[in-house]
Amino acid sequence: MTDAQKIRDAVSRSSGRFLGHLEQACAIPSVGTEGQGIEMIAWLENRLVELGATVSRLSVPGSPVAILGEFAGTDPGRTLMIYDHYDVQPVDPLNLWLSPPFEPTIRDGKLFARGAADNKGDLVARLCALEVFRELNGELPFTVKFLIEGEEEAGSVYFERICQAFAEQLKADDCVWEGGWMDLDGRPEMYYGCKGLLYVELRCRAISGDQHSSIAVYAPSAPWRLLRAINSFTDDDGNVVIDGFHDKIVPPGPRESELIERIPFNEQAMLKRLGIAEFNRGLTGPALTHALLYSPTANIDGFETGYTVPGGQKTVLPAEAMAKVDFRLVPDQDGTEIAGLVRKHLKDRGFGDIEVSVLSHENPSRSPLDSTLGRAAEAAAAEWFKDRVTIYPYMWATGPMFPIAQGLGIPICSPPGVGRPDSNLHAPNEHVHVADFYDIIGYTVAYLEEYGRTEPS
Ligand SMILES: [Zn+2]
Repeated sequence: MTDAQKIRDAVSRSSGRFLGHLEQACAIPSVGTEGQGIEMIAWLENRLVELGATVSRLSVPGSPVAILGEFAGTDPGRTLMIYDHYDVQPVDPLNLWLSPPFEPTIRDGKLFARGAADNKGDLVARLCALEVFRELNGELPFTVKFLIEGEEEAGSVYFERICQAFAEQLKADDCVWEGGWMDLDGRPEMYYGCKGLLYVELRCRAISGDQHSSIAVYAPSAPWRLLRAINSFTDDDGNVVIDGFHDKIVPPGPRESELIERIPFNEQAMLKRLGIAEFNRGLTGPALTHALLYSPTANIDGFETGYTVPGGQKTVLPAEAMAKVDFRLVPDQDGTEIAGLVRKHLKDRGFGDIEVSVLSHENPSRSPLDSTLGRAAEAAAAEWFKDRVTIYPYMWATGPMFPIAQGLGIPICSPPGVGRPDSNLHAPNEHVHVADFYDIIGYTVAYLEEYGRTEPS
């Protein structure tokens, strides 16, 4: 058994080189939605091969390449999968970056670059951890499979098909997910699942072309019609009232309820950050954290119609209106079924003419709270971090966990990772604290060791 100090010393001996790896990875543009990624695939393949992995490229027709890097362990009966993604979000608006997004720059102990937190920081930290693990322990006692996806930021459209097509190669006992993070006070957080997402575009066409607004007296209005249709999705408190929408929701079990009670949520700081006096429906305390995890939502992302030049005016009766709406889903709601319920709801209320296009959906996912990996990651976190780790039965955001956790039946746990809530994920000036990067390399070594010692569930 290696103690924490030995791990910290080993990380610190190679710290310059490890940071160099992260800088290299962050210097490679890999905005998946802009067709970038090839250079990043090559870099990762090289890195994996250098570390001794067998590497294959996984894809299905039309999909970006996912990389599978396999490190054989001495016990062929145990396999740990590690999921990360190499694609990053677009960099716009570029003028708000204080240093160019693909020129990693260190300021105030933070490394700024697109992808530094989401998700190259965790990915590189885990590759470094594997190196440290072997330096301190020799051979891996279990097989490690790195599965590195290339379209996470684009909604993982092909990911489920890739998982199905390569199910045999992807067999594993547990899966380390992309990365939990540290909260604003630096307390580590981990997750066992995630909410799902259904993203739809709604379109209403009421008349053949835009008209003088005076004829609004006798001609129908597309914007009003679409507003009324969307308004019917929720009650005045924002609760979704689509028929059947709540039928498959599984309420939290006793252990989940206990964990929810223990989730620290700095309400005052959040109210201040949002510039509001109180949360919706007067939510506070455990009811607030319960709602955060267990309440689905219908959210209007955007609405487009007619004349919208700020300060200008033009009287028009728009022919068409379009809205983007996302539904955050909770276990065991199913995105495809919910899309059907949305269509039925509109039809039943006389809005059958409104076109509903599903742009993407990811099902919610949950994993057992007592998986081998979960027990190992929690035990290692209790030793490693000075603050108690906050455990979320699942996270309030969405990721493509469903194809792994439910599709392949591999329990997922997302241990603390390099990001923080103010790491500017998806925004200009994305960054990680360099100290967090080193800390997470060390913690990863600690839970890999613990995983090797933990009796399988
Ligand atoms: Zn992201």
